[in-house]
Amino acid sequence: MQQNTLPPDDTANLPLVIGVDLGGTQLRTAVLRGPTLLSRVGMLTGTNPAPERILPLIFKAIEQALAEANVGMDAMAGIGIAAPGPLDHRTGIVFDPPNMPGWNRVPLRDLFAERFHVPVYVENDANTCCLGEYMFGAGRSYNMVVYMTISTGIGGGVMINGEIMEGASGIAAELGHMTIDRHGERCNCGNIGCLEYIASGTAIARHANKVIHAGEGAELLNFARTMLQHSDTVTNQSALPTTPGYGYEGETVELRFPPSPNSTPDQSQDLQETQKTQEMQEDELIVNARTVALAAEAGVPVARAIIQNAAESLGIGLVNVIHIFNPDVIILGGGVTQMGPMLLEPALHVVQERAMKVPREAVHIVLAQLGHNVGLVGAGALIYYYGKRGKNGGTEGTA
Ligand SMILES: [Zn+2]
Repeated sequence: MQQNTLPPDDTANLPLVIGVDLGGTQLRTAVLRGPTLLSRVGMLTGTNPAPERILPLIFKAIEQALAEANVGMDAMAGIGIAAPGPLDHRTGIVFDPPNMPGWNRVPLRDLFAERFHVPVYVENDANTCCLGEYMFGAGRSYNMVVYMTISTGIGGGVMINGEIMEGASGIAAELGHMTIDRHGERCNCGNIGCLEYIASGTAIARHANKVIHAGEGAELLNFARTMLQHSDTVTNQSALPTTPGYGYEGETVELRFPPSPNSTPDQSQDLQETQKTQEMQEDELIVNARTVALAAEAGVPVARAIIQNAAESLGIGLVNVIHIFNPDVIILGGGVTQMGPMLLEPALHVVQERAMKVPREAVHIVLAQLGHNVGLVGAGALIYYYGKRGKNGGTEGTA
């Protein structure tokens, strides 16, 4: 097997960069050297994410991150921006992402380049996360890397021999929008029965509330009410059992077929972030994905069934990914994966049952390593990725 382009030992010699992770709920910026954050500044995007309000905030956050790291912009090799798609990475223009109202044809790259006079690179957020994991995380020793993030939505990125798979229009690897149920419901993307519509955190919450509205979720509703009543005394952190060593933040834990029964997730910030997002996006709902996960964990049958359904659908998605890409590794990230074995074991069981033997035996299915900083690390990595190759996409590359 060919070695990855950048041995991890070289990270100390990498130039300093700025990473910007632009999301519908939060924006973060950091000064980085490879995977190492020298400073980090984050803020909520708030209810009005219009570019004329958000861009000055990001500029200010960058200046604050530089001040906190005690360095100047002249020491930066560039700015990498992870932004929600659709976008054109070659021009750095963002086209109306669904969760960023008002962002219609925003020339993100040029706006940042005019302000800071350094090379600027813009890339789809899931591709950016894939690049981050490929260079500095769970994908380090592999050539054919698939990254899937299961959060409020389901995103994907694919790297083939060190290249981000962009597709003809920069829309490749929309893994959340593969059809799982052809008789299913219409997804926001226009397709029917998408994986995202069935197995994302938003989907889990939607499913639970549908069951409750149909009068079949009394036990789940009671569980949610009890949780609410005790929310002052029982912290979310302690509500799920945690066992160190189930991946995340630094180590690769390969998921076996089936994974060991005692594995439980390491509770990270991501699940809380998913929850926050869900509360913001679906505040009319009574329960969110986290509540469903906790109820399932506590043995509430309807909650278990909902998670099982999402998990099996995820498994079918993984089978499709294995058959299409024959990847060395599939890296699973995003808050929903923090549910751990409850979600992952049924998914891996489906893979074991259905996937073709040769690619199934070749693939490593692992949890992401970079945790909630993956977007920032990946954004910074854009400078190493594009800069080194002289690819277009940055201000210098096209000048
Ligand atoms: Zn879809």
